[in-house]
Amino acid sequence: MLRGPAEPLPHSARTLAALTANPRCDRRTLLDAAGIDKPALATHLGLPQPMKKSRLALDHGLAFERQVTDPEQGVLLSLLRKALQLPLPRAYYKDINNLRHGNGTAPLGLRRTHTSQLILGTAEGKSTPHTLLDHPVLTLNVAGRQTYLEPDAIALRHDDVFHIVEIRSFPVIHGRADPLKAAVALTQAAAYILALRELLTRTHRPATQVSDTVVLINPRNFTFQPTATTYNAAPQIKSLSRHLTRLDRLPDLLETLPPDTTCDLATSPDGTPTRPRDNLIAALATMKPHYTPGCRHHCDLATHCRTEARNRGSIGALGTTVRDDLAGIDTLHTALDLADNHVRAISDHEDTTHALRHAQRIHDELTRDST
Ligand code: SF4
Repeated sequence: MLRGPAEPLPHSARTLAALTANPRCDRRTLLDAAGIDKPALATHLGLPQPMKKSRLALDHGLAFERQVTDPEQGVLLSLLRKALQLPLPRAYYKDINNLRHGNGTAPLGLRRTHTSQLILGTAEGKSTPHTLLDHPVLTLNVAGRQTYLEPDAIALRHDDVFHIVEIRSFPVIHGRADPLKAAVALTQAAAYILALRELLTRTHRPATQVSDTVVLINPRNFTFQPTATTYNAAPQIKSLSRHLTRLDRLPDLLETLPPDTTCDLATSPDGTPTRPRDNLIAALATMKPHYTPGCRHHCDLATHCRTEARNRGSIGALGTTVRDDLAGIDTLHTALDLADNHVRAISDHEDTTHALRHAQRIHDELTRDST
């Protein structure tokens, strides 16, 4: 009902990572759990498209990945031998992308079956232990639907523990990667870890056979020279698991909406949405948002939610720091009334009110002095 007759939009590791960026937004949770096409909603509402990576940046990333995974050069294996102490005698390499079907690359489902067979065979000691699986395909249950995920690689250590390996084109400069970019990469890796654990636990293998430790391969400093760094992704795994559980609670969230609420774009046979925009905006208004300026980095509806937050005088529109500083005060209107002494502070807000009035006095003095 909420999505209408459209097919649900499949998730990817990137969209799953974005889920954790604003966990308190019911609107986003509802849209994601129902598999609603947010980019299509945004386009129909006339919202600007989020910035995409340039062709140059994409080509740079692909060239780096090709260099690292080229089996002739063996760069990846040699980096992982150092990072994970992979023993030389077990350096078996398999690229799942080489699996053919007819004249072309095998479809996702077939590559996923092949990946599962290799991993389970290795885990049960029945087949050659493939130390490195390149371009594997896994699945993860997201809100009751199977989501295909494609990590860059899975490495198997000598103690039969699997590790997720991700190749990223952002640099590690003097041993340090951009913390924000590393956190996003680790959250995506967390989705792969959960998918791999799901595969093993389905066959009664322990989830602990998949390590929390992720290997990121990045260019070193300002060169094309790759370097491997290990990270503990346990916080990202915990956070993503929590959000996936939240998506499972779609029926509870749906109960908070008025009956017949829908984001159906009512597309015509040629695919053009016919739903009146005001009608769609009214439907979105029934889902509680939690706008922060960070939304513009991860959500297609950011411009819409920002305008709505500003129109409502929502404190959140000014950023998380202001929201935290004014904790418990929901609107700018209330904050201004408290600062101007138009309303009395309730006991919970005495400190905040004191700070607001102090700031107001400084502002008044400065504006008086400058006139
Ligand atoms: S942009 Fe809107 S829907 Fe998206 S996360 Fe932010 S508040 Fe939620």
